Amino acid sequence: MDEKQIDKDVILKELNELHNLDYDYRDGRILGSMCTEAHPFAKEVYYKFIDTNLGDPGLFKGTKLIESKVIESIGELLSINKPYGYIVTGGTEANIMAIRAARNHARKYKGIIGGEIIIPESAHFSFKKAADMLNLKILEASLDDNYKMDVDSVKHLISDKTVAIVAIAGTTELGLIDPIEEISKIAHDNNIYFHVDAAFGGFAIPFLREMGFNLPVFDFSLEGVCSITIDPHKMGLAPIPAGGILFRKEEYLDVMAVDSPYLTTKTQSTIVGTRSGAASAATYAVMKYLGKEGYSKLIKDAMNNTKFLKENLEKIGYEVICEPELNLVAFNHPNICADEIAKKLDVFGWKVSVAKCPVAIRIVLMNHIKLNHLKELVEDLKEIF
Ligand code: PLP
Repeated sequence: MDEKQIDKDVILKELNELHNLDYDYRDGRILGSMCTEAHPFAKEVYYKFIDTNLGDPGLFKGTKLIESKVIESIGELLSINKPYGYIVTGGTEANIMAIRAARNHARKYKGIIGGEIIIPESAHFSFKKAADMLNLKILEASLDDNYKMDVDSVKHLISDKTVAIVAIAGTTELGLIDPIEEISKIAHDNNIYFHVDAAFGGFAIPFLREMGFNLPVFDFSLEGVCSITIDPHKMGLAPIPAGGILFRKEEYLDVMAVDSPYLTTKTQSTIVGTRSGAASAATYAVMKYLGKEGYSKLIKDAMNNTKFLKENLEKIGYEVICEPELNLVAFNHPNICADEIAKKLDVFGWKVSVAKCPVAIRIVLMNHIKLNHLKELVEDLKEIF
């Protein structure tokens, strides 16, 4: 640290220089991210609430009420009247909380120690972190021919050690929705905790279903679903960090509660202590401002762009891995491997990511990617071989 104070302008100059090294969503070159530029109104509100701490909710009663309202509105989207949950830092923290709730619940009510969780091969790596931190063993269910969690494989993996089953509504690599209704039934029949990771799909599927898209049910209307991860900082247009975790019953929070002696609440069920109230306020603001109408328009535009990209890729000889269910297109070329395509696109300034299962280029059609960017991308894709 410097001995003396430094002029703000000098500091800002240095920070701006470093910030200029970052890619900017607005350039439409970030093609593999599940985050996007937050809505301007959400950013404005975020700043107003920047000093609030929901780790000590007795001091920030108003902000705590805002968080409760956000959880209630997200609950409405997910077909539950009285959800219990929090706005957290992202999908990773939300998933860790869900698995912690499942583990503690199984320990308390079934006496399971050293349990197992069943996740699909396509699950986000956050479950590996959760299992590591919570001392659980991961069993990976295989995928069927359509890259979705195989229901028979789940049945075979269930044992008296199973503390949770996880399925995905909007997989990270292909944007696909697992057969959640069937898996929910299996979990319910076997009295096993069932978590749905809708970090990506949660702010898209409900609106698409209402518009008539043929997508499956994935939410609390299925009686086996115990918790859902749904991230405002992905398709919800809230500023980072804003993840969401919703539980069906309060007892899932109770089994995680630890005493929090010096604070204004007696117990705490979240993983982190001090936590941002700004994320809740910003999420509240953007959800109110856009409403169902605004979100429906955003996802409709993204789906139109998805269709445009898929059709144009096929026209120029690329092979699309699967029919997109959400706003994500994964593809390969018969003559060049995905890593090579990614490298060549990088030379043109496009930042794509490569999926591992199956290996393919994946493009997430987030709000910052517009039709003109896609037209340019298709032209560049024609040139690279
Ligand atoms: N779950 C899914 C399905 C995801 O796609 C992601 C991230 O892309 C996560 C969880 C983790 O979310 P975060 O990066 O916000 O922690």
